[in-house]
Amino acid sequence: MSMLGLKHNAETKRKMSGSQIGNKNAEGHIVSRETREKMSAALRGKRHEQSVETRAKISASLRGHRNSPESYEKSAASCRGAKNYRWKGGKTIIRGYVYLKRPNHPRASKRGYVAEHHLVMEARLGRILLPNEIPHHVNGNPADNRDENLFLFSSIGEHIKFHKTQEEQL
Ligand SMILES: [Zn+2]
Repeated sequence: MSMLGLKHNAETKRKMSGSQIGNKNAEGHIVSRETREKMSAALRGKRHEQSVETRAKISASLRGHRNSPESYEKSAASCRGAKNYRWKGGKTIIRGYVYLKRPNHPRASKRGYVAEHHLVMEARLGRILLPNEIPHHVNGNPADNRDENLFLFSSIGEHIKFHKTQEEQL
């Protein structure tokens, strides 16, 4: 609101103060509502920070804990808001593998990236991948992250064994 608007309101109020006592109450109500909104916004921010911290602690100490995927999903939903919908960044390709920026993901890299094929597999499983679990690209194209192109090996050893067996058949 401009200064003019404020001045006008004040003058109007002064002029009407005699007859309309209710104006003061109305002003008081507006101020308190603004304050309340600011407070609740601050609280919301604080709560969000806390949940991120809590999640980081959970993922650090209890990787693969049953509760962490749930809390991660909840916070991911809140981060996927209107603020981000125009954002075009956050995707990078390294050696054919696609990485997406998911800074709130429990297993994000230092710069906040997670392999897209991990995210697709986690969506299928409904939980975060365990450290040993390896989603493998069935057709050999690391950029093809369609759900049907991903096969989950339950250990790094099994994944290596599979590739060695394939090589031996060449
Ligand atoms: Zn593989």
